[in-house]
Amino acid sequence: MYIGVDDTDSVKGMCTTYLATELIREFSELDLIGNPRLVRLNPNVPWKTRGNGAVCLRFGRGLGKPVPIGEIDKKPIYRYDRGIVKRPTEQQFERACDVVERLAMFDDENTNPGIVMSLHKPPEKLYWQAVRNVVTLDEHLSDAGVDLKRGYKNKRGLIGSVSAISWRPKDRTYELIAYRAKDRWGKSREIDAKSVIAMDRKVKTTFNNYDHEEKHMAIAPNSPCPILYGIRGDVEEDLHKAAKILKSERKDRWLIYLTNHGTDDHIIRGRLSDLVPYTSVKVGGTVASMPRALKGGHLIFELKNNRARVDCTIYEPAKGFREVGGALRPGDRITVFGGIREKPFTINVEKLRIEYLVEVMTKTANPMCKKCEKRMKSAGTGQGYRCVKCKTKAPGSKAEFTRVSRGVKLGWYEPPVGSRRHLSKPLKRMRSFS
Ligand code: ATP
Repeated sequence: MYIGVDDTDSVKGMCTTYLATELIREFSELDLIGNPRLVRLNPNVPWKTRGNGAVCLRFGRGLGKPVPIGEIDKKPIYRYDRGIVKRPTEQQFERACDVVERLAMFDDENTNPGIVMSLHKPPEKLYWQAVRNVVTLDEHLSDAGVDLKRGYKNKRGLIGSVSAISWRPKDRTYELIAYRAKDRWGKSREIDAKSVIAMDRKVKTTFNNYDHEEKHMAIAPNSPCPILYGIRGDVEEDLHKAAKILKSERKDRWLIYLTNHGTDDHIIRGRLSDLVPYTSVKVGGTVASMPRALKGGHLIFELKNNRARVDCTIYEPAKGFREVGGALRPGDRITVFGGIREKPFTINVEKLRIEYLVEVMTKTANPMCKKCEKRMKSAGTGQGYRCVKCKTKAPGSKAEFTRVSRGVKLGWYEPPVGSRRHLSKPLKRMRSFS
């Protein structure tokens, strides 16, 4: 049976993945079939708490070799790649609901938990709809066909619960999440930055660990949630090695999730004239105006094609990435990846590729008068040049120009590790730069 859970946390605490570890404790008489899954959904939904993550677990009787993927209550947790799975019973469902009712942050008005249990997966399209669009609860559930479901308060969490189970990975990564002892929740995290840098250097298949520009440990959240850190990577076994390198306060428990982090699953191919708010697109165009800095440190430039012009924004937290935006000039051709914001209407840039850089020239000297061998003077705006002595005229194009160094090259650019979206595929993971 599958269990899907979502929307149990708030900015004040909890984490749906921690709740997943409690479900594993609750169903300790069963085995995990496959890794627990942490599935991120549309990062643009306005009512998300943080990263719009939902969780899916599959329980049954494991067959074949057990693979260690975590530790809870000092006991190893295993996953089996195959197993005998049964339809969930009412009684099992009540046990799972009890876990949600015990742990979810019901007092927060934005916390609307949902839990589903099912023998079969709902149709795959439910995942793609929820990772790329904003969906409605009734429509989403009508196609789900799950055995048992319960939504609390406005029941919105059912959207994430159903979508998490529906995911059939095309691309996938892993995250080893370590949790803190309860008496440490809310206190500042003790993680040795040097060990994070060493881990980042040694375990090449991990990503988004350390922001060298901002000297920030991206593996640790800033919220008072139970998570100590999360190490992300392409290869499950390497995460064990990575965790051994880290030096930190005591881990209470840890677990390796299969995730859609860093897959770009949320991105659809867009057209500038046809952008839909709350979706995320890959869209090409020509830079239409000089970039300008806004109050608060954000940077805006316009992108156009022959049918539309749209603002693109790089926000302050993207730090050095703003310099790339700032170096663009009208006429450059780029492809932008980003989420569509409704008000003000803009593309929030997640990464970009520069495909063509215009030549930018700067005037270094007025034209020379060949007769008098003296520099000419301006004859007025748009009227070219004139020699003061012999009155010979020359058009503006006769001045001397040199090419300005552009400060950026063709290729891909992304924000520093600390300000990337969970779903954004880091350049490190992009095999072909096409
Ligand atoms: P986390 O903190 O675990 O990273 P989150 O807390 O930011 O995630 P949730 O608290 O789960 O996000 O809130 C997101 C809510 O939006 C959930 O109720 C979820 O079911 C719902 N939701 C997710 N995707 C969509 C979507 N595409 N359309 C509409 N609602 C969605």
